[in-house]
Amino acid sequence: MSSYILPPPSGSKIIIVGAGAFGLSTAYALSLKNKYEIWVFDRDQIPIPDAASTDISKVVRMDYGAATQNMQLMIEGLPIWKQWNKERKAKGKTPVFYKTGAVFFSQNNKYTDYSAASIKHIREAGYGHVIEELTGKDIVDRFPHFKGAVENGYNLAYLNKEAGWCDSSEAIKHIYEKCVNNGVRFVLGPNIGCFEKLYQQGNKVLGIQTKDQKIHYSDRVIIAAGPWTAGLIDLGDKLTATGQIVVHFKPPASSIFSQIKNQPVWSADPGFYGFPMTSEGKLKVALHSLGYYNQRTSDGKSVPRTQVTHRNDTIPIKALKEFREFLSKFFPQTSTMDVHYSRVCWYSDSQDSNFLVAPHPNLENIIIASGDSGHGMKFLPVVGLKIAQIVEGLDTDYSRAWGWREVNGSSAAFDAMRAGKSVDLKPLQLEDPNNDETRMCTATDLKATISKL
Ligand SMILES: Cc1cc2nc3c(=O)[nH]c(=O)nc-3n(C[C@H](O)[C@H](O)[C@H](O)COP(=O)(O)OP(=O)(O)OC[C@H]3O[C@@H](n4cnc5c(N)ncnc54)[C@H](O)[C@@H]3O)c2cc1C
Repeated sequence: MSSYILPPPSGSKIIIVGAGAFGLSTAYALSLKNKYEIWVFDRDQIPIPDAASTDISKVVRMDYGAATQNMQLMIEGLPIWKQWNKERKAKGKTPVFYKTGAVFFSQNNKYTDYSAASIKHIREAGYGHVIEELTGKDIVDRFPHFKGAVENGYNLAYLNKEAGWCDSSEAIKHIYEKCVNNGVRFVLGPNIGCFEKLYQQGNKVLGIQTKDQKIHYSDRVIIAAGPWTAGLIDLGDKLTATGQIVVHFKPPASSIFSQIKNQPVWSADPGFYGFPMTSEGKLKVALHSLGYYNQRTSDGKSVPRTQVTHRNDTIPIKALKEFREFLSKFFPQTSTMDVHYSRVCWYSDSQDSNFLVAPHPNLENIIIASGDSGHGMKFLPVVGLKIAQIVEGLDTDYSRAWGWREVNGSSAAFDAMRAGKSVDLKPLQLEDPNNDETRMCTATDLKATISKL
């Protein structure tokens, strides 16, 4: 299938639907060309409350197993994260990137295939100096809050000293400001900014129609609506929204988490990862997994279900059990802590975990920029530069990897970091009346499993 498109002529009006990481990064990159009129539409004010990009933290890592293209993209992105910190410091603002390092755990004294491949490729790329291999003793000496994990078999790890986390909501605000300064125009709000459908003549897209029934003409439309994308445009089975689980604890002042200063990001099989405790005392843990569907009745497409429309949503009881079981071994201290906050956050899963950034094969003037597959935030400073090249019709390594493609399997099966990799496994439907495990947790369910007394 052809992915070739003509570059938009100078002066073209380009509409971007979605003001998350992909949409804003693209808007900023295109604005640097100084030759387009760029408009971004979204359903809410920035940072959009239920966007995947809006969160207290996301992992920033070059450790990608054998997926070396992602490693290279991160290597390209890291200096820009640091540059943004400098820009913010000059304005008296907090950093957007925290280089805390990340510890990648393996079990039973043997590196996972993923860790072994990451170490190998990072070394081959000339970044061996950022890797420090750690025995169980090293881990506990350096990071005593992992003592329980080491005792329970997570006794080998490596530290990537260049990794860390980004304050993703602040980073979104930062690039939004850059877009505004570069003349990008925004239409934000539940009616005026909400894409309803494409405005087209035959297979030629002429613009978009928003919920207030207004038509907005443009030369190109870029759909960067993250996990909503598959529900807005017919993409066959190329993208699927899957709900993924996040929990926060609030460790007491007496807890080891409140005492250790140099906490790194961490990740451990099967697909769990977490962050240093924040200055507000939040300890975040999440799971990169098959996730959950929320299939709408009209066509069975999975669409995000968030706390904006379902205020009392928490996480499925099945997910809570999985977290509690894993954490009872990895961070036994959390068994005495209530889950303070929980959220189902949505990925736009492609079939092979690579992004989907490509002209639509059957429609003219429209480019899809989505398929983040749960790992796009770290690329905020650079993903738009690659997307802009695709919008301009360039043939690049990225246009080939992220192009319209035929894949057999599921994102989870291809993604070596994800829990539940079997091709046969399918995400469960949230709130399935036939499966009590998929109901949302009550406040009582979220209480500590071991008495605090
Ligand atoms: C639980 C979780 C943990 C993650 N952890 C990490 C991590 O540690 N590191 C990492 O790199 N990445 C991580 N990610 C992935 C990262 O968050 C995403 O890759 C990234 O945020 C995707 O950006 P996006 O712009 O595609 O989507 P979004 O940020 O969701 O933006 C899509 C935008 O489209 C808008 N939109 C939707 N429908 C419409 C409409 N009809 N009209 C107008 N606008 C619309 C939405 O309002 C939204 O603002 C995580 C994701 C989740 C869910």
